[in-house]
Amino acid sequence: MKKKIAIIGAGPGGLTAAMILSKRGYEVDVYEKEGHVWGRNSRLTLSDRYHFDVGPTFLLMKDILDEVFEFAWAKSSDYLDFEKIDPMYELHFNDKVVPMTSDYAAMRETIARMFPGEEKWFDTYISYEEKRLQRMYPCLKADYGNAGSILKNSWNLLRVLPYLSLGKSIYDVLGSYFKSEELKLCFTFQAKYLGMSPWNCPGFFSMLAYAEHKYGIYHTTGWLSQISEAMKKVAEKNGAKIHLNSPVKKVMTKNKKATGIELMSGEIKSYDSVVVNADFGHAMTHLFEEKDVAKYSTEKLNKKGFSCSTYMIYLALDKVYDLPFHSIYFAKNYRENLQVIHDHKEIQKDDFSFYIRNASVVDKTLAPEGHSGIYVLVPMSNLRSNDNWEIKKEEWYKNIIETLKNRAGLQDIESHIVDSVAITPADWEKRGVYLGATFNLAHTIDQMLYFRPHNQFECVGNCYLVWGGTHPGSGLPTIYESARIVSDLIDTNK
Ligand SMILES: Cc1cc2nc3c(=O)[nH]c(=O)nc-3n(C[C@H](O)[C@H](O)[C@H](O)COP(=O)(O)OP(=O)(O)OC[C@H]3O[C@@H](n4cnc5c(N)ncnc54)[C@H](O)[C@@H]3O)c2cc1C
Repeated sequence: MKKKIAIIGAGPGGLTAAMILSKRGYEVDVYEKEGHVWGRNSRLTLSDRYHFDVGPTFLLMKDILDEVFEFAWAKSSDYLDFEKIDPMYELHFNDKVVPMTSDYAAMRETIARMFPGEEKWFDTYISYEEKRLQRMYPCLKADYGNAGSILKNSWNLLRVLPYLSLGKSIYDVLGSYFKSEELKLCFTFQAKYLGMSPWNCPGFFSMLAYAEHKYGIYHTTGWLSQISEAMKKVAEKNGAKIHLNSPVKKVMTKNKKATGIELMSGEIKSYDSVVVNADFGHAMTHLFEEKDVAKYSTEKLNKKGFSCSTYMIYLALDKVYDLPFHSIYFAKNYRENLQVIHDHKEIQKDDFSFYIRNASVVDKTLAPEGHSGIYVLVPMSNLRSNDNWEIKKEEWYKNIIETLKNRAGLQDIESHIVDSVAITPADWEKRGVYLGATFNLAHTIDQMLYFRPHNQFECVGNCYLVWGGTHPGSGLPTIYESARIVSDLIDTNK
């Protein structure tokens, strides 16, 4: 008889697991509390005709997405139109703007022109980081749930040891290549993808920037959330049932083993295994009996590091600005800006970093002709800061608009806003993101690999985890990998 699997949540992790497991012959039911399958990879529409991605704005390491589709016997290109974004982004410092490209020769030429003499170190960077990624990659794909799985992967772990840059931050690692402060930041700001700072993010994450330069970054025409829609189609084609508007109240257990789920409606359903995709902190504090997950009680979670949060603005405009697809503006004192976020304090209103996505310049399906939608992300402290976002929401909205005028040169932006919406750290929490920490548990060494909540959940038997809060970590490709690892574990434990 087919084994029955419940998946709680239809975010990128839950959907990837649903596609693969249903193809492998399991009877899969996905329960999603919302009326759609997107999770954080969601979308919003303003005034009926301006479309925005809410969370992720680009796909890195597209090969991993292609691979998980193949595991589900599908081809991603049959469902999605991919657009490579190159130049990848523009980086704005106090006195210069650096265009970053995944074209090696063009990038080298830019470095030679803007940072004369450093281009030879770019060559060193590329050749060493290539080796680092080659060694790291098999480790990211492995499971670290128990001594047996660690032993099985011991050869890869041994090979990667010299490349771990233990005790060093990404900033330290890049300091071994480049002299220019700005150039170091060009290859370290990617720590922010994990909600961290280059000064406290483990050194081996230098592979993130390298992966961008090696593989490039992608958009999928008509929203990045099309990826979730495509995964839903494949999962359903493979036989999975996706139940929308079906919030789960808790995971049912007996003798510390998952036996099924209880829906908010009161209905109880039995399953052989339960896969949890709902946010880590949220799941630990809401979906399990406290006694089953004592290791992750609220008291214990208080001692864990979580990522920063984000304040978001989505602006529908009756104008198209001459801005690239992605631009990043660094605070004048970037290190201090990130330190304040890390210390859970309020960032300075007159000196903060922000990111602008102007997707309409590439994707004409997102707004009417001559119009556009701009997405602005400002890294903020998570809710450990105790900020009152009821009061600060409007203040920060106005402050960001002023900054767009002064720093990004969009002087007339106010007169072109047709519609807008903002999301604060508190709003993220209302959406089920613990502490509003949008990039989940921090990726510090003491919370990585074996020390991160295990893919095969260590507290409850027959229960598996697929999200940014488990191994390998936050970000679309790594979350797809967590679902692949879980699918293999379920197969092995069959
Ligand atoms: C602002 C922002 C920008 C980002 N940018 C990028 C980027 O450019 N590139 C990139 O690779 N990554 C990016 N990320 C990271 C990445 O998008 C997220 O880490 C990823 O979407 C999270 O996927 P997930 O499957 O772990 O969880 P989620 O997307 O959070 O999905 C969890 C799902 O579980 C559902 N759920 C929760 N509780 C229940 C319940 N009780 N019952 C039923 N369902 C439930 C939720 O509704 C949700 O659908 C970004 C994230 C954010 C927030």
